Amino acid sequence: MTIATTQTAGATLSVDQLRSLDVPGPRYTSYPTADRFVEAFGVNEYRQALRQRAQGAVVGGVPPLSLYVHIPFCDSLCYYCACNKIITRHHSRGREYLALLAREVELHVAELGVGQGVSQLHLGGGSPTFLADEELGDLMAMLRSAFRLLPQCEVSIEVDPRTATRERLRHLAEIGFNRISFGIQDFDPDVQAAVHRIQSFESVRELVAEARALRFESINADLIYGLPKQTPESFRRTIAQIAELRPTRIALYAYAHLPQRFKPQRRIAAADLPSGEQRVQMLGNALAGFIASGYVYIGMDHFALPTDALAIAKRQGRLHRNFQGYTTQPDCDLIGLGVSSIGRVGATYSQNAKTLPEYEDALAQGDLPVVRGLALTRDDLLRRSVIMALMCQGRVEFESIELAHLIKFRETFAPELERLKPLAEMGLVEVSDQAIQVTATGWYFVRGVAMTFDRYLQSDKVRERFSRII
Ligand code: SF4
Repeated sequence: MTIATTQTAGATLSVDQLRSLDVPGPRYTSYPTADRFVEAFGVNEYRQALRQRAQGAVVGGVPPLSLYVHIPFCDSLCYYCACNKIITRHHSRGREYLALLAREVELHVAELGVGQGVSQLHLGGGSPTFLADEELGDLMAMLRSAFRLLPQCEVSIEVDPRTATRERLRHLAEIGFNRISFGIQDFDPDVQAAVHRIQSFESVRELVAEARALRFESINADLIYGLPKQTPESFRRTIAQIAELRPTRIALYAYAHLPQRFKPQRRIAAADLPSGEQRVQMLGNALAGFIASGYVYIGMDHFALPTDALAIAKRQGRLHRNFQGYTTQPDCDLIGLGVSSIGRVGATYSQNAKTLPEYEDALAQGDLPVVRGLALTRDDLLRRSVIMALMCQGRVEFESIELAHLIKFRETFAPELERLKPLAEMGLVEVSDQAIQVTATGWYFVRGVAMTFDRYLQSDKVRERFSRII
């Protein structure tokens, strides 16, 4: 079997080549990746990073903040889930959790000062729509009293269609959300039964139509390929149904079956999973189907309509990547709020306690609930620039990296350039004296290209922690 890109007459790849490329690899929502975070970086180091930001704000201004708020609760378990979540039917837990978030916000305000500008706010989970309308309204009011949401602020929320109604969407628009993301995954009834997540096409169609009528600036649909009972034929129907709904963005994720790491996945029978070659076919069909329907391939797992801000940013070379995936927002400090959230402040990453009792205990003692993180070295910052340029622009200009990091690219990265040679022979990258360019075919495997520059990924053992590329 061979695949060719649907955008250009790119290279074709043999089954053997595909197999050699289908290795586990990170998604590079950060570099270094979260598995490199250490406990030696704790709450004191995080406070220090916040203080440095506050000082920067005093002397010359700092870019606005990005906020992520994690709502961990869900009503029922999806068997493919790899998120940090708490399954419960006790909705009273939502209100208790809001009190903890308010405490965490207060501790941030004590370091940063009240009224910091925010250009991006995202509610993720879990299921943010586990919270009642009133609770979501209170959460937004609490955030607005502590931070200053800028006029162009992107305010987005992940919506589980099973917990949403047209009225709920109207309420979300009223309290300031302007971007919405629906977790859809697959419309096939057998697949939905196999992953324990039932939602009809008709109900989702009604919600997407309402979101469009309410003029949400971006409407995203999340899909997953590689789920149990999925076949290239069944997934082709889902692709057609998604094209009919016409969300402005589509995120298409590869299911990573790691039952040793993610307990819910033990309910999925390995025999029900599609083969590697079927997965490649599904990815190829999705690419072809979405592009034929007018979507632009943004990279890795994202598509967007040409009028969507993400597609415009891609055209203009302004695409960035953060913990939520591709974004139009330039690199800015990210404050992660809630259990297990990850933040990025200055040249540091930090992560909150992963369990609710630990998170609660830290707050009860008046501490920020950060339990691990990382202070990036110069080498980390250099490699992050290269990896993010590959993931976002598909191109690394040697000169711009040399100027920003005071290095000689070809000397510093001589071993990496050597390791790129087989990828260049497969037609995935082109390396000239000035730049590395990912080809149209190479976009399928862009994380494989980026992995070449990851200093921490040199052993197979480390690689096995990640999901497969295809
Ligand atoms: S996939 Fe989403 S909705 Fe399902 S259990 Fe996981 S976090 Fe909850």
